[in-house]
Amino acid sequence: MTTPRLYLSPPHMGPDERRLLLEAFDSNWVAPLGPHVDAFEKEMSAKVSGLHCVALSSGTAGLHLALQMLGVSRDDEVLVSSLTFAASANPVTYLGAKPVFIDAEASSWNMDPVLLAEELEACAKRGKLPRAVVVVDLYGQCADYDVLLAACAKYQVPLIEDAAEALGATYQGKPAGTFGAMGVLSFNGNKIITTSGGGMLLARDEAFATKARFLAQQARDPAPHYEHSHIGYNYRLSNLLAAVGRGQLSVLEERVKVRRATNAFYRQALSELPGVAFMPLSKKGEWNAWLSVITIDPKVFGADRETIRLALEKENIESRPVWKPMHLQPVFKECRVRGGRVGDQAFANGLCLPSGTAMTDGDRQRVVDVIRRVQRR
Ligand SMILES: *Cc1c(COP(=O)(O)O)cnc(C)c1O
Repeated sequence: MTTPRLYLSPPHMGPDERRLLLEAFDSNWVAPLGPHVDAFEKEMSAKVSGLHCVALSSGTAGLHLALQMLGVSRDDEVLVSSLTFAASANPVTYLGAKPVFIDAEASSWNMDPVLLAEELEACAKRGKLPRAVVVVDLYGQCADYDVLLAACAKYQVPLIEDAAEALGATYQGKPAGTFGAMGVLSFNGNKIITTSGGGMLLARDEAFATKARFLAQQARDPAPHYEHSHIGYNYRLSNLLAAVGRGQLSVLEERVKVRRATNAFYRQALSELPGVAFMPLSKKGEWNAWLSVITIDPKVFGADRETIRLALEKENIESRPVWKPMHLQPVFKECRVRGGRVGDQAFANGLCLPSGTAMTDGDRQRVVDVIRRVQRR
């Protein structure tokens, strides 16, 4: 294949990342923790309304710690957005608890506040409230927190914001990651900024941050020797990776701008095609445009999303179906779900298009041309 592969959302590194990484390397401070970790946390804090930030080895680790700190344990239930990546739900099971899935609303693809309220009411009637609610900011758009938080407050159930895909987005003017009792970010390789692998726990309450640090560093009690009265984890971020993260964070706003421009390009070029629509955007916030997602009405378009995906693949262009909802996953088939049709539809017809920030207009045009060609066939 002669045309270079166009990936969905590849890492995009710059000279600052390289400089900071080498600086960390040359300082020999390569082990976990160190000055770049502290600085990365401080610089992130400035971007998320001054919340306490704990740098971790992954977003999944952040969700695990957040759930554990809220007391989630064996046989508890945790309500989780169904339309998401499995990492939103997996940590619930690490603690022996059970996820209960809530469908998305059609207007944003995020957790439907009406379904959440219904499920909480049903749980209350049954006499067993969930221990927590995990709300995902899908594809870089914040969920409707005014309504979701009100529903949770009524039953005093804490909310965890899975903002793994949403760094740089806002809701009612406030940054993603700041809405729940705790928020979680991811710096996995395909996210809007990356440290190759990494994550961050955000907490308003300093006690949660302190406890997260303790648990993430093998739960060492204060003593000159190794003393343990709790089970801990090895979940902290390395100083080398934090150096990369600092460089990435300094260009976050530029990255968001480019992703939004990519989305605008696709809208301009594809919106008028019959049977093509875009992931619905709420007016209550500004997304970070992490991935541009289209939906295909196969009857109107004349082909389904899988035909488009295969046509793109043939041209060496990576695209992906929308997340397969958790309530359709074999591993969660025993779990309860409320609603499901919106997620089913998004999965059946949704396709994520290449959205990387190093793409040129020529790259974007390649994608558009293939989709147009499939339609003309
Ligand atoms: C990427 C992602 C995660 C997990 O983050 P990792 O850093 O890869 O562990 C969790 N939730 C969602 C919605 C994600 O997209």
